[in-house]
Amino acid sequence: MNRYLEKVLEETKAKNVNEPEFIQAVTEVITSIEPVIEAHKEYEREAIVERVIEPERIITFRVPWTDDRGQVQINRGYRVQYSSLLGPYKGGLRFHPSVNQSIMKFLGFEQIFKNALSGLPIGGAKGGSDFNPKGKSDREVMRFCQSFMTELYRHIGQDIDVPAGDIGVGGREIGYLFGQYKRIKNGYEGGVLTGKSVGWGGSLARTEATGYGLIYYMREMLKANGEETFEGKKVTISGAGNVAIYACEKAQSYGAKVIALSDSNGCIYDKKGIDLQLVKQIKEIERGRIKEYLREHKEAQYIERTGESNPIWEIETDIALPCATQNEIDLHSATKLVNNGVLAVGEGANMPTTPDAIEYFQKNDVLFAPAKAANAGGVSTSAIEMSQNSMRYYYTFEEVDRRLEQIMVNIFKSCEEASEKYGYSGNYAAGANIAGFLKIAKAMYAQGIV
Ligand code: NDP
Repeated sequence: MNRYLEKVLEETKAKNVNEPEFIQAVTEVITSIEPVIEAHKEYEREAIVERVIEPERIITFRVPWTDDRGQVQINRGYRVQYSSLLGPYKGGLRFHPSVNQSIMKFLGFEQIFKNALSGLPIGGAKGGSDFNPKGKSDREVMRFCQSFMTELYRHIGQDIDVPAGDIGVGGREIGYLFGQYKRIKNGYEGGVLTGKSVGWGGSLARTEATGYGLIYYMREMLKANGEETFEGKKVTISGAGNVAIYACEKAQSYGAKVIALSDSNGCIYDKKGIDLQLVKQIKEIERGRIKEYLREHKEAQYIERTGESNPIWEIETDIALPCATQNEIDLHSATKLVNNGVLAVGEGANMPTTPDAIEYFQKNDVLFAPAKAANAGGVSTSAIEMSQNSMRYYYTFEEVDRRLEQIMVNIFKSCEEASEKYGYSGNYAAGANIAGFLKIAKAMYAQGIV
């Protein structure tokens, strides 16, 4: 590796020893931008790579709230305002017990590249809390969200920082967060959060956007590699949340046969094809577990998760779409998928594939769609929601979906072109890193040392 990049990587590792996910995300980018650094010697003097890696600001705060029994609970809140080079800070909020600074920083770092790739005027950020919404009553979730926003409101604004949802933060949470922001600010700043419900500022097609966008990207990648269609292909999708459900919906509309979905306890395998209406009922309305699918489909199989790896990756499939969480496909799972003849893998979740698994896919000629590019449809549609809020006007579902599709086509082209131009033909992960980095680096150079 280039001496400058090697030095930056070593320093990053030394400075962030307790942050393995963050180091993983940075290493993945650094190891693929060498040709860009070779072509732009001025970036070293300007410390462009170091500045891209160091977040502009990290905010952590205490979130006190009272549960239904009257017991006071304390959680930790985060907002990592990573980069405001291309627009207001923008990125989701995650509520999950695993949330810590390393996870917030890796997600924020990934977000700046993703947002740059979208071509829209948005910077990068991420936030959240180690609060676990699972098993909490609506009132508990509301009290938590109100307390979280009572601190967060000082740091956000429609031209400053615009949060959205992520794991554990959907329409219900965004509603409570928005209500509290509006109450504190005494004004209707519709564009301060995205992922709002339709009817009070939300955009049509935002709910569907990440999953649909993933399938648009996959369609382009398959087409570019001589696979004209999804028709008849077997697809397995991990997760059963927002991204997984709408990836399933769009893949089914293209004639694919989605045969498995999962949650953190296990996966369902339905050879006949997943009954998505039932999954929506269980997950979106009842907030239940995926296992309950068997109550109406006795012929389907439920495979409980007993070890580290998700059993879903042992099922024979043509296309695997990890849409749950980080590092969910390790080398063991990648080997199973390759042995079972997988054709393509598309990352709906953020960093769901470990570095050795990515390498293994690439060595075995599996088409690989990287998260930064393939799941950028969600944030892109959030940016479309922001522009509708500014205009005080709504587009139809078809208008938003058409824009989303075009954005995903453009993102795929950027990845493809960058990978070819810099000697990584067919490696769309490297292409995404390079195309995103170039946008950020150029803006950083132009905006001076700030
Ligand atoms: P949801 O909370 O709607 O769903 C998450 C799903 O993944 C659930 O089925 C959940 O199962 C499962 N899951 C979460 N954590 C784990 C874990 N540690 N191990 C196993 N399964 C897990 O989240 P989203 O669908 O919104 O997000 C999924 C992924 O997509 C995340 O990586 C997120 O960062 C990424 N993403 C989301 C975007 C969006 O617009 N929502 C945009 C871009 C990326 P369980 O219920 O058992 O916890």
